[in-house]
Amino acid sequence: MNDATRERREITEAPAASDFIRDIVAADNKSNKHGGRVVTRFPPEPNGYLHIGHAKSICLNFGIARENHGVCHLRFDDTNPTKEEVEYVESIQADVRWLGFDWDDKKFYASDYFAQLYQYAEQLIQDDKAYVCDLSADEMRAYRGTLTEPGKNSPYRDRSVTENLDLFRRMRAGEFSEGSRTLRAKIDMASPNINMRDPVMYRILKATHHRTGDMWCIYPMYDYAHCVSDAIEGITHSICTLEFEDHRPLYDWFLDELRTPHHPQQIEFARLNLTYTLMSKRKLLQLVRDNHVRGWDDPRMPTLQGLRRRGYTSEAIRNLCERVGVAKRNSTVDVAMLEHEIREDLNKRAPRVMAVLQPLKVVIDNYPEGQVEQLDAVNNPEDSSMGTRKIPFSRVLYIEQDDFREDPPKKFFRLAPGREVRLRYAYLIKCERIVKNERGGIVEVHCTYDPETRSGGAAETRKVKATLHWVSAAQAVPAEVRLYEQLFTVPDPGAADDFTTVLNPNSITVLTSCYVEPSLATTTNGARYQFERQGYFCVDPDSAPGKLVFNRTVTLKDAWAKIEKAQKGTE
Ligand code: ATP
Ligand code: MG
Repeated sequence: MNDATRERREITEAPAASDFIRDIVAADNKSNKHGGRVVTRFPPEPNGYLHIGHAKSICLNFGIARENHGVCHLRFDDTNPTKEEVEYVESIQADVRWLGFDWDDKKFYASDYFAQLYQYAEQLIQDDKAYVCDLSADEMRAYRGTLTEPGKNSPYRDRSVTENLDLFRRMRAGEFSEGSRTLRAKIDMASPNINMRDPVMYRILKATHHRTGDMWCIYPMYDYAHCVSDAIEGITHSICTLEFEDHRPLYDWFLDELRTPHHPQQIEFARLNLTYTLMSKRKLLQLVRDNHVRGWDDPRMPTLQGLRRRGYTSEAIRNLCERVGVAKRNSTVDVAMLEHEIREDLNKRAPRVMAVLQPLKVVIDNYPEGQVEQLDAVNNPEDSSMGTRKIPFSRVLYIEQDDFREDPPKKFFRLAPGREVRLRYAYLIKCERIVKNERGGIVEVHCTYDPETRSGGAAETRKVKATLHWVSAAQAVPAEVRLYEQLFTVPDPGAADDFTTVLNPNSITVLTSCYVEPSLATTTNGARYQFERQGYFCVDPDSAPGKLVFNRTVTLKDAWAKIEKAQKGTE
């Protein structure tokens, strides 16, 4: 069974907790409202890479379809040719698959429906429910009114059906310049709902579309294209985020007026927001374009490709989406919760290895020169089926600089002059002396070891207060390690007028003289490990044989578990 199949099986078998949307679907199934069909869709606009917010929508739409033996369509909402690109279409498909979902042959594009959308628009004109308007964008804004004042009718609102048809056909034929005319629905300029004040259905855009080329120079607006696309596909439940609640009357108006064969039910839920995270595609694009990050898949990005490169598993992301649940009220989830999910997952699956990020040389003076012992190390204490491996031990080792102090403060129990500590899987060593350079920096720590104290041996019971990780210098493999912190310094970067003012200057630290144990010499891209005592790391695609590069996915410290514990304590 490969990873993808295993993950898919896990999803199928996991009973989904109920929520108000699943309740609606269940009730509709019971009353046979849609003849037992459940058809959902995930409708991304291919104008950027998917982020973790989209993951919530994907899990919900594909999840509900799967649980009800229905189908979920992948539909590219490609109605704005100026912002959309094939690159995005491809990345979106790769990301949905990676998350563990599949659309079978149900891949659609709103642009597939341009002809039908056009026909329906003519039908509305015939029914005197749509008209061609010559107001400029600014004028239209002025006529629209405000939340407290009604709008005014456009002077073009009473054009005859014949004139409207003629003008609309000429709009399509390319006779008019961009921005000079629009097609608008004729609803109610005094409606308390601004979305109902004669919304624009079509605009003139002389742009080349990534799929339809130059076939069209008028393009449908989202509110019109979206509901009609849903209806054409026979969607039963059109699940979208809360900001579309006020658009629902318009969604229903179009479908009622057009008398489409299907009339899907629009249901809104709260979008996923995370602390310290931007979730707007426009802003994410700006981060990429202005080189604040190294690309859409930069491990600091909340994109699925960024998270994957950072070492996140799709399971951790699905688990987060499930845990957060589906609600009707907007809220922001602590990013610590996401980190908690990946820790939980990697704790089960990541092999433990030893890596020294900021090396300090240790020489064991009484260890025979040239001798190498192969010690047994456990790959995962959480899963004995992952077995053991051999790690070499010899006279010269590296430990972490942080694990040694010449003048140890109170409560520092690691290595210090005269102090004894255990080396993981190996021996007790005692610091005898240090060697400094001319600037006073410590360059070597000289120790002695006690041959009786090998791990697993009889004398293992001797108590020391610290166990350190280490690597044997002669066999260690050099590596680069990239450490990450939050990309922003404030919990709500979206609220900043200019998010570049709240970028964290320390969001990445690159350590270039790290050493990892030799078992990692042949590792492969994407492989995930726990570096003992430090955190979870994965192999970055920048890695090459002889030039390993690791990303820190997450540290071992679980802030979320602490928060939860504190919450429980106050309950
Ligand atoms: P933008 O960020 O440009 O406003 P968008 O996030 O709405 O766009 P789409 O490509 O239209 O981008 O999103 C596809 C689907 O994903 C939509 O149904 C949208 O409601 C959903 N979605 C987007 N962001 C979130 C989020 N943070 N939480 C849950 N669902 C989301
Ligand atoms: Mg959108």
